[in-house]
Amino acid sequence: MEALPVFLNVQGVRCLVAGGGEVAFRKARLLTRAGANLHIVAPRACDRMLALLQEHGGHFDRREVLEMDLEGAQLVIAATDDIQANENVSQWARSRNIPVNVVDQPALCTFYMPAIVDRSPVVVAISSSGTSPVLTRSLKEMNEVMIPAGIDRLAGLLGSMRGEVKKRIADFAGRTAFWENVLDSEVPELVYAGREEEARAALGRLLDGAGPRTGEVWLVGAGPGDPDLLTLRALRLMYRADVVLYDRLVSEEILARIRPDAELIHVGKGPEMHSMDQFAINDMLIRYAREGHKVLRLKGGDPFIFGRGGEELTTLAESGINFQIVPGITAASGCAAYAGIPLTHRDHAHSVQFLTGHLKDDVLDLDWPALVRPQHTLVFYMGLKSLPIVCEQLRKHGMPSETPAAVVSQGTTRQQQVAAGNIENLSGIAERAGIKAPAITIIGEVVSLRDSFAWFEG
Ligand code: SAH
Repeated sequence: MEALPVFLNVQGVRCLVAGGGEVAFRKARLLTRAGANLHIVAPRACDRMLALLQEHGGHFDRREVLEMDLEGAQLVIAATDDIQANENVSQWARSRNIPVNVVDQPALCTFYMPAIVDRSPVVVAISSSGTSPVLTRSLKEMNEVMIPAGIDRLAGLLGSMRGEVKKRIADFAGRTAFWENVLDSEVPELVYAGREEEARAALGRLLDGAGPRTGEVWLVGAGPGDPDLLTLRALRLMYRADVVLYDRLVSEEILARIRPDAELIHVGKGPEMHSMDQFAINDMLIRYAREGHKVLRLKGGDPFIFGRGGEELTTLAESGINFQIVPGITAASGCAAYAGIPLTHRDHAHSVQFLTGHLKDDVLDLDWPALVRPQHTLVFYMGLKSLPIVCEQLRKHGMPSETPAAVVSQGTTRQQQVAAGNIENLSGIAERAGIKAPAITIIGEVVSLRDSFAWFEG
């Protein structure tokens, strides 16, 4: 290690910033966030620096930096565009043993400024010891993605219980084990879901040593196929689940991101699924949750769009099982985006409707006249089999034969296929192209925009 990582308490401490430009402003802003008492010295200051001084107070000397400015300073940052001035500041600081940072000049620094991920009170600081600011920034981005937005509230809750836990669990090792147990329990997810009172109660139960932890079901949308379209919350829960019940529509690539030691159970049979099977799934969800497991119910697309999510929740709610719902990108948005078809557009469509083309006893019972409207996009889920009927009925009810239409199969995956035409010839085109399920059909003027907007090759 080239330097000692520390977090410096600068509350009310006089910190000198030499420089008044944008770079100096960013450092000064950071110092004010940490409660420092600012002293800025620069011949000129940018507007943002002046605004910062006005908002947070501090002292501004509008001139070149001088050796006397170091008197009383406990931390110094040089961010001027004058190399000599930066060198002087560094030398003056070092001769007085005041920690000094000169922006972009590691040789003149006695400390480096890390890249930070700020979820105060949780702060992650990252440094490459001055070797590569860009690498540091990319590590920062990775952390921004991985650290839950609500970790500040979690830290607040844990912090508020620390005294109590210390009183009740005397030995250090016991406390460490307790806190590890808390982080592995339902407490963090309850906090992230905004259920802080429940989280506090659960933490209290753990402290009382009361019974086994309670199970929970997470109903999570996995998106249409491309694993990059998973939400951050979905990914996090995929890594925390003990048992995963997943549908036929959830891709292998997505399953590969589930915690390796989780138990994987394939339950989906597709659109023809018999209602008995749904009962069996509901029972399984309840049984695993009652056994204390964290159960992930992973569904293709969004659980609330033709996903039977509502039915599963009814059973869970009736059985008093805790649950969480995480939306996913539904097939219509995923496929439309990856096929270059905007579902609405100022000039072509002011509304969009999601329908199911699922046949019941070979019949598709829809309010056809209501579907035929100008500037309206239709998206049919589960409609590959019924495609000829859909096109025929729409034409019969007055939709012009040349209305553009497309079928997107296995959308957003490397196997994506798009067959485009109009409502008169689409079925033939899709059949000749060998289009396979899962597929959605998009009908409306917007489909013609695909010629200019297509970008994904599959
Ligand atoms: N809850 C899901 C839909 C489930 S119904 C969602 O929100 O997307 C199943 C239907 O979704 C399939 O028959 C197909 O019409 C559509 N579908 C799901 N994934 C798809 C994909 N990758 N490409 C095309 N259609 C898809």
